[in-house]
Amino acid sequence: MKKTIFKYAGKAVLVLCCILSSVCRSDASTSVTFPDSWDVGQAFAIALSSHTPYEEPTVNWLGRTVSLDVEPGREGYVSYGLLGSYVRDVKPGVYPLDFEFIQDGEKFLVKCEVILKERKYQEEHLKVEDKMVTPPKSERDRIQKEARLTGAALKTMTVKRRWTTPPRRPVSGIFTSDYGFRRVYNGVPRGYHAGTDFRAPTGTPISAPFAGDVVLTGKYYYSGGSVFIDSGNGVVSAFFHMSRIDVKKGDRIAQGQVIGASGATGRVTGPHLHYALNLSGQYVDAAPLFETSITALLNAMQSEVVRP
Ligand SMILES: [Zn+2]
Repeated sequence: MKKTIFKYAGKAVLVLCCILSSVCRSDASTSVTFPDSWDVGQAFAIALSSHTPYEEPTVNWLGRTVSLDVEPGREGYVSYGLLGSYVRDVKPGVYPLDFEFIQDGEKFLVKCEVILKERKYQEEHLKVEDKMVTPPKSERDRIQKEARLTGAALKTMTVKRRWTTPPRRPVSGIFTSDYGFRRVYNGVPRGYHAGTDFRAPTGTPISAPFAGDVVLTGKYYYSGGSVFIDSGNGVVSAFFHMSRIDVKKGDRIAQGQVIGASGATGRVTGPHLHYALNLSGQYVDAAPLFETSITALLNAMQSEVVRP
């Protein structure tokens, strides 16, 4: 894909150089790493790295500005991000991915593109109580209020990177329902499965896959006992159907810390843990991440020098 770097000079936009090739990678000063193409619904890694200090790195992806951290790296400084696309909302196609940062007192914009490829997810038929497919009118206000609360929690954007890879499994049980399943409740199609279900009898302790801060807890109509944890750079974990919640909003959580116990609250067919990973507003498939690292993910991406 073609990459262009623009340098802002006052209000004018000056094109510094046009098509960049990886030929000059060996004498790289500042480079970006991102996928050329990736599957819809799957998480990918991005990075910005440089020998020279830079500030305020962000990446724009699917309408959101993602704030990145700056850490010591092999090349001097590095910023990592985890991004993806929600299979319900994002169709296959070519999407812009723009890096921005300030270096040597100037603002840089690096325009990239990612091809999102179609991936077939399966269909799953479930039987639940009718009120969980078509909620009674009396519950609509409650459901709307809860949607606003959880929507705000998923918009959390903090700079400090608290997530590491691989994440720890929240419970030891096997996956019982995968991300991306087209869900049909009592014969009625109702969107896609936005998380991964783990086998977990009621009362199974749930531990945090990533370190982070609790941004929301509650007992909700569809998701039952719920906890949302922000791990920085738009990485937000959600845990649903819990029987017990041991944390509260504002609590600082270590990776592996127990945050509560699994249950069968909300719209469920039985006790389990629904774990959902949201990356800057996009629910992605968390399952492959439990088996990989940021290094392995980045090795599957391409790197481009943007400032030799
Ligand atoms: Zn689920």
